[in-house]
Amino acid sequence: MPSVNIFGLTMLKKWTLERAKLIFNLPFNEIIYEAQTIHRKHFTPNEVQISTLLSIKTGSCPENCSYCPQSAHYQTGLKKEPLMALDDVLMAAKKAKEAGASRFCMGAAWRGPRDEDLEQVCTMVSEVKKLGLETCVTLGLLKDDQALRLKEAGLDFYNHNIDTSEEFYNKIITTRTFQDRIDTLDQVRKAGLKVCCGGIIGMGEDNDDRIKMLVTLANLDKPPESVPINKLIRIPGTPLEGQREVDPFDFVKTIALARILMPHSYIRLSAGREQMSDEMQALCLLAGANSIFYGEKLLTADNPIPENDQFLFERLGLERLQ
Ligand code: SF4
Repeated sequence: MPSVNIFGLTMLKKWTLERAKLIFNLPFNEIIYEAQTIHRKHFTPNEVQISTLLSIKTGSCPENCSYCPQSAHYQTGLKKEPLMALDDVLMAAKKAKEAGASRFCMGAAWRGPRDEDLEQVCTMVSEVKKLGLETCVTLGLLKDDQALRLKEAGLDFYNHNIDTSEEFYNKIITTRTFQDRIDTLDQVRKAGLKVCCGGIIGMGEDNDDRIKMLVTLANLDKPPESVPINKLIRIPGTPLEGQREVDPFDFVKTIALARILMPHSYIRLSAGREQMSDEMQALCLLAGANSIFYGEKLLTADNPIPENDQFLFERLGLERLQ
């Protein structure tokens, strides 16, 4: 049986691909055991952080992300909507808080915000904060001092996913580069914001790409505080609608590797839960995931209804992080 001194490795500043592969290729029970052990060292074992995600501006995005129904490049039948009014955003945030969310995330389908749009988002951030929620926004690429402006407005987290490995990236998106994404993440960090950054599993990449993506995240100057791991939702009309289903055990191992490489980060089981069995979700939580998106919609995609999540929490004896 291969043996890896994982606890020694976590002390390293930088992860190498070889070491990460060695861990990923451990027998399933071994990697899950290591991930759960590390998880218990850094987090309360049965506590899960709850975020709610709202699309505040939907569709007509100029980017060509192959998985995304909001891209203007694809015909997905999605109803386009302009930037939401502040009152509607606040109503959704209050509802999310009542349902137990601790963080409210707002997403806009832009390449990046224009300064006038950013000002409106900043007002939303300030007002949502007043409700006692943590705030996160995902607005695309940031320029100049936009990250600083968001920080001044009281923003806690900025989400900007790298999606996949650098090598596989241009098979998925060609309208902006991997480096563009890293540059935005740098800006976000420099502004003193917390980073939410992860990727999508099941776009046609192989396990090496998944491992490389996690190594990139773990080796950032500071790993993201929040790491969403999405399972591709194959949306009709997008180039990835016919993609092959990912092996569920590879997906769970990807979660476990994320936990091991980034022991202090919240690993979020994100898009794709609607297509997962309760047993698969339980395995992901055992592998170290400790955050979920809660609420019927994830931007434009379906998510499990809150009652189902509540029932799952009860059966697994899970508590919400307050
Ligand atoms: S993922 Fe974001 S940037 Fe890419 S097409 Fe969709 S909304 Fe636009």
